[in-house]
Amino acid sequence: MAPHSTATEDLAATALENKIAQQPSRPSNGSSTLAALDASKLTYTLADPSARAVPDDATAFSGNETICTDHMVTAVWHASTGWAAPELKPYGPLTLMPTASVLHYATECFEGLKAYRGYDGKLRLFRPNLNANRMLMSTLRISLPGFDPAELERLILALMEVDGPKWLPRDQPGRFLYLRPAIIGTQPQLGVQAPREALLFITASFMPKMDAPAGGMKLHTNPEDMIRAWVGGFGYAKVGANYGPSLLATNEARQRGFGQILWLYGPENYCTEAGASNFFVVWRTQDGKRQLVTAPLDDKLILDGVTRRSVVQLARERLGEELEVVERKYTIDEVIEADKEGRLIEAFAAGTAFFICPVSQIRHRDHDIHFPMVKGESGQYTSMIKGWMTDIMYGKEQHPWGVVVNERQ
Ligand SMILES: *Cc1c(COP(=O)(O)O)cnc(C)c1O
Repeated sequence: MAPHSTATEDLAATALENKIAQQPSRPSNGSSTLAALDASKLTYTLADPSARAVPDDATAFSGNETICTDHMVTAVWHASTGWAAPELKPYGPLTLMPTASVLHYATECFEGLKAYRGYDGKLRLFRPNLNANRMLMSTLRISLPGFDPAELERLILALMEVDGPKWLPRDQPGRFLYLRPAIIGTQPQLGVQAPREALLFITASFMPKMDAPAGGMKLHTNPEDMIRAWVGGFGYAKVGANYGPSLLATNEARQRGFGQILWLYGPENYCTEAGASNFFVVWRTQDGKRQLVTAPLDDKLILDGVTRRSVVQLARERLGEELEVVERKYTIDEVIEADKEGRLIEAFAAGTAFFICPVSQIRHRDHDIHFPMVKGESGQYTSMIKGWMTDIMYGKEQHPWGVVVNERQ
């Protein structure tokens, strides 16, 4: 290979993989003067626990503000010094200059995961290492500073060690909080460039249960002239820039009584994702095989969801021959054809926020596709897989995916 073609390769997507592989882990190898993100340096400034009572759900969801717990974790990064010691401190506003990079160039990425109060009294996160790894990937994709994902996971756990006991009482199993780690470019300088200052923060908040809308979730396909992501783009990264521009179509769909957009791609109309969730269809093939089908990861159009991965893994392990799991490109026309031939079994959206949410209908142009809801408000496989995941999350099944938080009291 000619030398200049190697150089071109360095500029391509592989550069991201190399960067991920090069992240220092604690303790740093000493060859760098830049401090690595280090959860063992976390400082604690505790809020007065009696200052705020935990609201009931009706109160928590009555306003227009997300209710967060008593504390948040923050960590400041500077290009010349690296990561400062992270801080756990009372939840409150951030201070940013109007010229901060994030406000102009969308140098932001985030994660979403939940903390679950188990039926055995323990507090668990679900596969938080996958969120931490994905956050590193998203962070590097937008030229924000790298870190050892294990340190981010420790910081998430630290927040729950402090706020878990009060905000998810042990005598109220089955409840959860939503954890939102994010990184933003904070350098106060205009100009399209990689920021030299950044802020990592983690909050924990209330989020309503959205996994069982009455009558199932209804999806509307995207307008013909609008797509969510494209090959060569950044649909696979959880960067804020993917979400703001999707709201125009989503609002339009909501006004027509649909919950989310089913995002199609290309002239073929490949099914990709449902809103900010992955999407699954169960159908019978023309030769009678039952299949669970979902879009593949290899063209980097869709987000590699933790829920998606878990559904795929559990269905392969536990349903084996009964239901073949297929990650492949499939079009809306295939779904319409399966509907016409009576081969559709069920469909669901899968992601942390919506968990596993039965889909009852898709509207595409002048077609309406209806999915059977044999178990009342859900299909049978949807309900079975959801049950397995719930059992792991809430400790009814002891499983390595459930990571127990060592709570402070
Ligand atoms: C977050 C997200 C998902 C779901 O990912 P999980 O890890 O399962 O929460 C799916 N698609 C998009 C576009 C997302 O932003």
